[in-house]
Amino acid sequence: MKKIYITRAIPQVGIDMLTQKGFEVHVGKSNDPISQKELIRAIKGKEFDGIITLLTDAVDAKVFDTSPSVRIVSNYATGFDNINLVDAKNHHVTVANAPAGHSARSVAEFSLSLTLALLTRIVEADDFVRKGKYKGWSPMNFIGSDMQGKTVGLIGAGRIGSMFAKYARSLDLTVLYTDIKRNPTFEQECGAQFCPTLVELLPRCDVVSIHVPLLPSTRHLMNEEMIAHMKKTAVLINTSRGPVVDEKALEVALREKRIAGAALDVFEFEPKISRGMRKLPNVILTPHIASASDSARNEMAIIAAQNIIDYFEGKVPANIVTV
Ligand code: NAD
Repeated sequence: MKKIYITRAIPQVGIDMLTQKGFEVHVGKSNDPISQKELIRAIKGKEFDGIITLLTDAVDAKVFDTSPSVRIVSNYATGFDNINLVDAKNHHVTVANAPAGHSARSVAEFSLSLTLALLTRIVEADDFVRKGKYKGWSPMNFIGSDMQGKTVGLIGAGRIGSMFAKYARSLDLTVLYTDIKRNPTFEQECGAQFCPTLVELLPRCDVVSIHVPLLPSTRHLMNEEMIAHMKKTAVLINTSRGPVVDEKALEVALREKRIAGAALDVFEFEPKISRGMRKLPNVILTPHIASASDSARNEMAIIAAQNIIDYFEGKVPANIVTV
């Protein structure tokens, strides 16, 4: 019987799939992210054949050396920047991710929600009401902006970026995108215009939304220099990975009102967020929940489990990721 370790609880549907196929499944008990030391302690000497990891688990040679019996790591996430793919390859460990269709939809909807919430100042206004500051209707209270005539710029137009573009088009917005791969079908379907570089995209946008994976080439893609190319009235949305944005540079730009606002679901030093950033009124901060819809999370559990099942049934899992 193959033994699978799941580092923390995931939706039951994935666990049931594995047990029904005869796997012995062990689930970590922690509600909070675990350190690599804790992960190593949990798997050491237990002869697990596979692990389902979360994006908070740092997986590299130390983990593979601890448990040489592990043949596959299936990451319960679309991103896989928490796994060292070179180390996995060197240890002959297969790595797969869980890019659920529902997750792309959920993240795109969440990104749009953040955009609308920023422009309409919903979060600030909610705080104002809860603090008992509302004394009656005022013509000048919380004046924000609507989406009329706005231009959205997407950095990365893969599964999530292209879904966001569909929503943006349905609101009659102009859609621009930059990506390392130009996609004529996407351009036709969504009326999106390609910008070969960020420098060409940024000055034209009212909303800039980031949808690239975290890679060496995307770390600090939005740095001080790039932020300076944005309009003073524009907002930045990041639901991809925190380190894609230089958070210190963003904080300064927001404080000095060099851009109008930002909404962040992910953070450079997650879960730490600087005190300065937390104090800014023109920022919305959410705890990495863009894919936290019930349908997305269930589908992610199904995909993560199916990767394991396929692997041990001798099939090639559909979601293998490689260096
Ligand atoms: P995807 O692979 O379908 O699309 C990513 C796109 O980025 C691709 O089109 C790729 O060509 C492009 N790209 C890569 N490097 C680039 C660069 N340097 N410049 C411009 N474009 C570049 O991925 P996806 O499913 O759309 O997800 C995007 C990212 O969103 C994931 O990698 C993950 O990190 C993040 N994500 C976050 C959450 C959340 O809960 N906040 C949930 C799911 C995914």
